[in-house]
Amino acid sequence: MQHIARLAPALPVPRVVQSNQGREFHTVRFTNGCDHGVYVLTCLDGVLLSDTGVRDDSATRREIGKMMANVDLALRGYFHPAAIQQHPWNFETCTRLRHLIQHIGNVDARAEVDEIFEHMSEIVIPRLQSLRHQVIHQDAHTDNILVDPDDATRITGLIDFGDLLYGTLVAEIAVACDSIPYGSPDMVPAAAEIVASFDSVLALEEQEVDLVFDLVCARNAMTTTIAAARLALTPEQPVHIQSPLTFVDRLRELQRVGRADFTQHLRTACRFPVTCPNSANEALSDDEEARLVEARRSLLGRNTTHFYERPMHFERARGPWLFSTDGHRYLDCYNNVPQVGHCHPHVVRAIARQAAALNTNTRYLYSSALEYADRLTSKLAPHLSACIFVNSGSEANDVAWQMAKLITGNTGAVIMEDAYHGVTDVIRQFSPGRPETPLPAFLKGLIVPDPYRGPFRENDPELLQKYAADANRAIAELDASGHGTAAFMIDSALCSSGVPDVPDGYMQAIEKKIRAAGGLMICDEVQSGFGRMGQWWGHEHHGVRADIVTMGKPVGNGHPLGVVVTTQEILNRFMDKTRLFSTFGGNTVACAAGNAVLDVIEQENLIERSRTVGDYLRSEIAQLASKHALIGNVRGHGMLTGLEFVTDRAERSPATSETARLLELMRQECVLVGSEGRDANILKLRPSLVFERDHVDVFVDALERSLDAL
Ligand code: PMP
Repeated sequence: MQHIARLAPALPVPRVVQSNQGREFHTVRFTNGCDHGVYVLTCLDGVLLSDTGVRDDSATRREIGKMMANVDLALRGYFHPAAIQQHPWNFETCTRLRHLIQHIGNVDARAEVDEIFEHMSEIVIPRLQSLRHQVIHQDAHTDNILVDPDDATRITGLIDFGDLLYGTLVAEIAVACDSIPYGSPDMVPAAAEIVASFDSVLALEEQEVDLVFDLVCARNAMTTTIAAARLALTPEQPVHIQSPLTFVDRLRELQRVGRADFTQHLRTACRFPVTCPNSANEALSDDEEARLVEARRSLLGRNTTHFYERPMHFERARGPWLFSTDGHRYLDCYNNVPQVGHCHPHVVRAIARQAAALNTNTRYLYSSALEYADRLTSKLAPHLSACIFVNSGSEANDVAWQMAKLITGNTGAVIMEDAYHGVTDVIRQFSPGRPETPLPAFLKGLIVPDPYRGPFRENDPELLQKYAADANRAIAELDASGHGTAAFMIDSALCSSGVPDVPDGYMQAIEKKIRAAGGLMICDEVQSGFGRMGQWWGHEHHGVRADIVTMGKPVGNGHPLGVVVTTQEILNRFMDKTRLFSTFGGNTVACAAGNAVLDVIEQENLIERSRTVGDYLRSEIAQLASKHALIGNVRGHGMLTGLEFVTDRAERSPATSETARLLELMRQECVLVGSEGRDANILKLRPSLVFERDHVDVFVDALERSLDAL
């Protein structure tokens, strides 16, 4: 109490009164000759909550949750050896009460209580041991809480520090749930209110919230046992606790609700994400999945696409793994947004810490945007030294296109014939996806330089010249239509073309022609950037000089952030004209994410790893090719691989239906991949850069089994 008075003087707990000799404790000899320690406490105003007749008030409950969190915050740095003495109400030693259950008269009730103790001993107590511990009050029930007699929501006191002990922090909440009236129909929302209000002051950990149900059950089992034992062993003592059967009723009520529902309520109240099952036994039912699919159709539109015949449902991820509600974990070889691995803790913390401090926009001065811009541009060639922040790859490309038109005065662009660059009104037109999609007059598509299945193949000595010559046609057509060439927009990974093995020198040849026509090089690094291709940038791999670089997807490892990096001159001329500003672009939280991604790439040496693990992946696949004729070609750089399937190696005929089937078989093997290319016969593999050789082995084994099963 003295500790609380010092650290949190506003908390309504009794004060210890000093004697005339300036001491808190005295020893007094009683008439029976025994010495007793004596101390005097101040009297607090108010009436016991249990005496107010207030049965079920949510405002009071919220106050209790907050007060107990504040008490525990104040007690955080307190310790006394007496706090670890044996204590009958300690959850972690509750199984010691088992010998007393014989006093529970009702046989069924006895068995139910025993089951709870068994569960505590086997499952819960071992888990509690790794949770936060400290000295806690552990007795916040309605007989120990004083309130204003005219307003039960105003707590005027917390008394009885006699059950103070060193225990798991979350026990405080389980005990505070005693304040929910027995028989209340709203027991679950009431518990959620206590948990959420506690959490609003002292943030709870997920594992703590997940154990509240078990602790509330245990508390009722303990109370039942202690009440029954006291009645049987010391019938002459005054009864403090209600009839043991009251608590058994609460236990039964809890069992009826069930751990899953109860816990989900608490998790939602604290905004913890939906629980993800740990095993197939706990998988979400088919009915529940079907309900979500239907809700998705009606709320998000019936044409919202999903991967796989039966959509996959994920609620959790870590590193290279996604965890599904079917209880299995899936190796993610497809998604390239989590570049440094799903939910990388450093990135997650950076986002959370910045969100807790400030989230505002670039119209104000803050250091993280400048730190980020400085670090990011230092990874690029020296002339690329100025940034504009936006929210997505599409937006970055849109801005880049506006820049190119403004700087060159031209209005036409060259792209790949099956390019993808995003979704804004104009950038959708830069994204034909397939070569046969008609393009507007201001856009010209180049034949994809694919030496495996393109019109000019790898054994053609003039392959490079033949592909590059197509740019002469495109530029001439743009000139003829009066548009001229403002830019060549190119995804350095050529991802939507199926990651072809672009001939060396091809990009440089195109660059030369574009520059001669007065155009700029817009290098779209949404796919290829941040080490995906085994070096920082894809355009470096192709040896070209970019005028404008656009970034998205991996920049924030999942947090929305798009960036346009260009020269000082281009940026200044563009901004003079447009004063472009994006509300969310480069906000403080996005910059925290961006900085953290750079930290991880640097600290975990991920560019190097992308090279070595990517090479290992391709060499392992190449070995499989000797056994499986379906594998026509494997190519790529770093952590970007194209794996092309053909039904006939000589003809190179696309194995379209086999690839579709393989995706489903790989899903059954718990490996996620995606298909690409105009014939959808290419596996596009873009695992996160934290992939290790072991993960490659999992992938290759799954691929082999799937190929066998085709
Ligand atoms: N450019 C490329 C090369 C892309 O692959 C994508 C997205 N797949 C985009 C741009 C668009 O990015 P966003 O979806 O963030 O708008």
